[in-house]
Amino acid sequence: SDSHFPVPISPSHVDYSLHYPQFFQSSDILAGSKKIEFADIGCGFGGLLISLATLFPETLMIGMELRDKVTEYVKERILALRKASPGEYQNASVVRTNSMKYIPNYFEKGQLSKMFFLFPDPHFKEKNHRRRVISPHLLDEYAYVLRVGGIIYTITDVEELGDWMKSCLEGHCMFEAITEEELEADPVVKLLSSATEEGQKVSRNGGQTFRAVYRRILPCV
Ligand code: SAM
Repeated sequence: SDSHFPVPISPSHVDYSLHYPQFFQSSDILAGSKKIEFADIGCGFGGLLISLATLFPETLMIGMELRDKVTEYVKERILALRKASPGEYQNASVVRTNSMKYIPNYFEKGQLSKMFFLFPDPHFKEKNHRRRVISPHLLDEYAYVLRVGGIIYTITDVEELGDWMKSCLEGHCMFEAITEEELEADPVVKLLSSATEEGQKVSRNGGQTFRAVYRRILPCV
């Protein structure tokens, strides 16, 4: 349960030196002022973070994962990569937490430039829809921590969930759909179906995927 993992009381209590020692133990004051910009929600085994870490070497990113053992695995995976490739993967980390409860404990208003929701659990039954990681209520929270212009990436192989995520985003006044041209030009979009373990499983099985990628905009008045 939640009582088994510590939760920072506010974003300023997140211990960056623990997650990104190379960035935060240097004598360079500027290096220590960086903040996390990408959050992979329900990161699973961490495949997306590993790909993003080298694509955006100066950007701090974190995976949020509920399962203890899976979080430990990702931690070890990142440590092993840091060891094997000195200087690389220093910008990626993971934390065990319940993202449906504690996002505001980790990120300030407007802090994030990208949030990822890749192959989230579908929770098919109507009464379990409130457990879905995308919902009108949670989108309010995501809009709060995303900066204007920030992007939320979602993908699933469950058509019904894809429709649900899209309709939640479409119905929210602080998000607008990204155009096809922009999607084509964004190198991150290609990773959505190829970088994570779940995405790879789906493509091995020849499954279809449903994507919704939206930009945080200023609210309509
Ligand atoms: N994104 C990964 C991928 O594409 O391979 C993992 C997808 S897996 C189907 C969904 C993950 O979300 C699981 O690892 C699960 O433990 C995690 N999860 C579910 N609810 C969560 C929550 N409230 N907070 C954090 N992680 C959660």
